[in-house]
Amino acid sequence: MLEIKNLHARIAEDETEILRGIDLTVKPGEMHAIMGPNGSGKSTLSYILAGKDDYEVTEGEILFNGENMLEMEPDERAAAGMFLAFQYPIEIPGVATMEFLKTAMNAQRKARGEAALSIPDFMKRVKEAAGHLNVSMDMLKRPLNVGFSGGEKKRAEILQMSLLEPKLCVLDETDSGLDIDALRIVADGVNKLRSPDRAMVVITHYQRLLDYIVPDVVHVLSRGRIVKTGGKELAVELEKNGYADYIDTAA
Ligand code: ADP
Ligand code: MG
Ligand code: MG
Repeated sequence: MLEIKNLHARIAEDETEILRGIDLTVKPGEMHAIMGPNGSGKSTLSYILAGKDDYEVTEGEILFNGENMLEMEPDERAAAGMFLAFQYPIEIPGVATMEFLKTAMNAQRKARGEAALSIPDFMKRVKEAAGHLNVSMDMLKRPLNVGFSGGEKKRAEILQMSLLEPKLCVLDETDSGLDIDALRIVADGVNKLRSPDRAMVVITHYQRLLDYIVPDVVHVLSRGRIVKTGGKELAVELEKNGYADYIDTAA
C-alpha cells in the first residue's frame, strides 16, 4: 500500500538533509510504529507524506497503491485514501467542527464517486463516532481545534479519521500531551479502525502508546535513517534501554 524507497529530503531552501535514505514498505492490514529520538525526522516524514510544500524531496520515491505519490497534490492524496493526524493539529477558525467534518466527508465521497450524505445520515454517523471518542456536541459546534485542549485536538483528529474511513492512516505523536484516560480513548479509536484492508503508521517518541496500540512492526529512526526494524518487543527494549544503542553515527 505504501512504499517508500531511498527517500532523501530537506527543508526547501536549506541544504541540510533531514531524511537520508528511508526505505519502508507497509502492507494492508499492518500496523507499523516509527520510533526515534527528538529531531530524528519523524515529523518531517509525516509532512512529506502529507505533501506540505516547505519540504523538498531530493531523491527516492513514494508509491501509494502503486501510484507515484510525490506527484499528487495534498487533496488528491486525501481523496486516494490517505489520512494524516499531525503532531500539532491546525486550527480552523470560523468553521464549526461539525461543518468541517461534513465538508471533508462529502469531498471524500465525491472522490469515490458516491453521493453526498443526507443530513440525518451524516448526523447519525457523527454522533455515533463522537460518542465513542468522548467528543461532546459542544465541541462539535466550536471551530475546529480553536481553543481545544491537547486531548480534545487529538480526539478530534481520530474522529475525522474514523469518519473518513481512509486506507492509510499516519499518526504523528498522537500520544503527546495526553493523560492516561485520553490516551486510552484515542488508542481505542485507532484500534477500532484496524482492518485487513487498512494500513497504519504510528509515529511516537514514547513506548507508552504501544501498550495500547500493538504494532506488527517497529522501526527506529535516527538522524533521518531507519537504523533498526523489529517486532513489538523492540519498542519494549527501547523503553528500557533508550535510543543510545541506535544512534546513527554514519556521516
Ligand atoms: P522529530 O519529529 O523526530 O522530532 P523533526 O522532523 O521535527 O523531528 O525534525 C528533524 C530535524 O529537522 C531537526 O533537526 C529539526 O531541527 C529540523 N527541522 C524540522 N523542521 C524544520 C524547519 N521548519 N526549519 C528548520 N529545521 C527544521
Ligand atoms: Mg520533535
Ligand atoms: Mg515530531
